[in-house]
Amino acid sequence: MDNCLFCKIIKKEIPKEFDYESENLVVFPDINPSADSHLLIVPKKHIGGVEELSQDNKDLLAEIYETANALVKKKNLQNSLYRIVVNGGKAQHVPHLHFHFLGGQWKKMV
Ligand code: 5GP
Ligand code: ZN
Repeated sequence: MDNCLFCKIIKKEIPKEFDYESENLVVFPDINPSADSHLLIVPKKHIGGVEELSQDNKDLLAEIYETANALVKKKNLQNSLYRIVVNGGKAQHVPHLHFHFLGGQWKKMV
């Protein structure tokens, strides 16, 4: 979608190192981290937010949580602290669906 920050990052119009990339999603660090490790799991397809999700997205949602599962294991957070947060409505500042992966001590609310 034109003028969407995360679409521009996904299309590499804005340079960004990806921690992980698949056919359907990318993972990159949040520019303003709220935890020791703060990554964003972002579908490549432009979906505005949770309210736009449907049955058509069930494979994508499974892949997002499989990715989160892999991050927990990669960062060895099973017995430590981690959260997965999705903001919506007026709590969401970038209108392209994304999942905050927060590992370790968090510093502030996302
Ligand atoms: P939201 O409030 O929409 O759930 O979260 C948006 C997140 O995107 C915020 O945590 C913010 O720090 C992050 N963010 C905003 N602009 C950029 C950017 O240009 N690059 C990256 N990597 N993260 C961004
Ligand atoms: Zn977008």
